[in-house]
Amino acid sequence: MIEVYKNIYLEEIPLPNNPLKYLNFYVIKGKEKSMIIDTGFNHEDIKEKIMKVFEKLNLEPKKTMLFLTHLHSDHTGLASYFENLGLSIFISKVDGEILNSSKDISDTFWKNLAKNEILQGLQEDNLDIKKHPGFKYRAKSKIKYIPAVPGEYIKIDNYNFEIIDLKGHTPGMVGLYEAEHKILFCGDHILGKITPNITYWGAQHGDMLGKYFESLDLVYNMDIEHLFSSHRFLIDDHKKRIQELYKHHNHRLDEVRNTLKKLGKSTVRTVAKNMHWDIKSKNWDDFPKSQKWFAVGEAHAHLEHLRALKEIDVEEQNGLLYYYNMPK
Ligand SMILES: [Zn+2]
Repeated sequence: MIEVYKNIYLEEIPLPNNPLKYLNFYVIKGKEKSMIIDTGFNHEDIKEKIMKVFEKLNLEPKKTMLFLTHLHSDHTGLASYFENLGLSIFISKVDGEILNSSKDISDTFWKNLAKNEILQGLQEDNLDIKKHPGFKYRAKSKIKYIPAVPGEYIKIDNYNFEIIDLKGHTPGMVGLYEAEHKILFCGDHILGKITPNITYWGAQHGDMLGKYFESLDLVYNMDIEHLFSSHRFLIDDHKKRIQELYKHHNHRLDEVRNTLKKLGKSTVRTVAKNMHWDIKSKNWDDFPKSQKWFAVGEAHAHLEHLRALKEIDVEEQNGLLYYYNMPK
């Protein structure tokens, strides 16, 4: 564990069998109240590791807040464990609601995912939701939380953290900004080396890539000296990293444009099949099943962004979505 700033500690929590490798687990230690940020998966080793941090820093559960940046299970897996210990939990209303509706296979979140799968053309891949990583590692019980509202503040001693809306990676991701000390806890919004996954969350959430770009612009213009991300190494130059992320997505958008130009009306699955993936597989059939959801979700987010830009349109035919270039 290292003190990355005065009274702010970082412990790397290993995430077993996960390409993200570690969760950067942060503690803000205060005299009266302290705060921890995110929890890692619901996993015995992770629980032990975090409880050791509690011991070392003398954290009292009843005087500690748990701030959840977003709903993903590598951030929220132990939320109900900490709720039972007496921590007060903060998460945005948007992510909190999704989190609490994804407990059982019959809950809204998984029902919607199954519906979208059909619209996207994934039915012919015969995927089993029970094998979806998000389902396998989901929170097993609902949590009671205090809504983290963007614009509101959480005070810990000399720190005054503003809750910042960082929607994009999830519909309701939030971060914590300390203007005086130029610190931003940004969750998975900006990561070193890896590109945060941007996916389709259903029609009700709209153009997620567009929202992600908005959140990138917001952070680009912020005065930041210490960017505390949730995975991998800490980034020195947030503006440079944001430019790289823009470049990545613009390249992806071009791939999608070119596919539609070449193939005409296409399902989301067809577009995903024709994009380039850093996965060692010969073709789509050889593609690891669990990765197909991610690939199709990413393709869909990019398609929806082009639709929001009015470059392409979509129609439903026999229960499938077909995207196509708008006639000029
Ligand atoms: Zn995440």
